[in-house]
Amino acid sequence: MTDQDLADLLRDLGRHRLTEANAGNVSARRGAGMAISATGIRTDTVTAADIVTMDFAGKFAGGWLPSSEWAMHAAIYQVEPAARVIVHTHSDAAVALSCLDEGLPPFHYMLAEFGGHDVRCAPYATFGTPQLAAHAAAAIEGRSACLLAHHGMICHGPDGRTALTRAVKLEMLCRQYLLARAAGPVRCLSEADMEAALARYATYGQQPGQPT
Ligand SMILES: [Zn+2]
Repeated sequence: MTDQDLADLLRDLGRHRLTEANAGNVSARRGAGMAISATGIRTDTVTAADIVTMDFAGKFAGGWLPSSEWAMHAAIYQVEPAARVIVHTHSDAAVALSCLDEGLPPFHYMLAEFGGHDVRCAPYATFGTPQLAAHAAAAIEGRSACLLAHHGMICHGPDGRTALTRAVKLEMLCRQYLLARAAGPVRCLSEADMEAALARYATYGQQPGQPT
């Protein structure tokens, strides 16, 4: 991911209405550290010049301060070797569900997209703190996404397109779960149902002849 790719990814978050104004940030693993959007950057005006290169201890180059959530991104890159790109948003349905201190149970087979039977919700901690970073890293371990209580969501992928698609799908699933909850008690899928969905997801979307 170039700096321009990251700026474009942050703009795409705005276009998908996953974040408003400056309440979202994106990063990509780069060498032994990462490149991350600068703090306070708006999704509608971001450029490649607003991307900061830094290590996982907080040392950065250039004149812009990195996102206030850089420690959360750094912690996730360190526990999830598969994470190449990270997207963090305050999208409406994810925030609403996170304010119940709940993640997503296996109410829909598409939760398999995130690598397990559920999407956990990290306990609340003040934004930008090492405590929030530790909570997020624990909640996302073994998954590609988690909610952050009273805050939003964070997800990762092997590339920018996948990370963005996961954020869009997580927001959709949070919205659908809240709709179902409002209609009545939600019956969740069984462990066997979710295992079958996970097995299908291992090859989902691949065309014949593509490498697995
Ligand atoms: Zn945030």
